[in-house]
Amino acid sequence: MELSANISLAECVKSQTALRMKIDNTPNVDQIAALKQLALAVLQPVRERFERPLVIGSGFRCAALCTAIGSKTTSQHRMGQAADFEIPGIPNPAVAKFIRDNLSFDQLILEYYDPEEGTNSGWIHCSYVSSERNRDEVLTINNNGTFEGLLGV
Ligand SMILES: [Zn+2]
Repeated sequence: MELSANISLAECVKSQTALRMKIDNTPNVDQIAALKQLALAVLQPVRERFERPLVIGSGFRCAALCTAIGSKTTSQHRMGQAADFEIPGIPNPAVAKFIRDNLSFDQLILEYYDPEEGTNSGWIHCSYVSSERNRDEVLTINNNGTFEGLLGV
């Protein structure tokens, strides 16, 4: 099932942990609808801007998967509203900056980006709720803590 022109449901649901632990990480209708909103509003525009496939490290996480990886069950990943991703060959700060400056989103987080480890270190977390309810919150999270805005961009 395709969520948008270049983003499939399968890549938003895939989880190595779920496979290994035999967790059924299948989203329900509402969670799929949320994933589709996220794909259309954020993932697909990013794909088109950089003209390269996204690598989605984690999209939807069912409650059992959240528990298995130590993520809160209130996480937006569980609602189908968030994805962690990157684009191989494109610096994560450049992708985050494009999202911040051009797209509507709920929360954008540049996570564990370390310039000393290379521009592809870390990943981008982005969530989408709805155009009325998006908070447009931009954060950087790294080993030193959580900071407002995109640090070092
Ligand atoms: Zn995330």
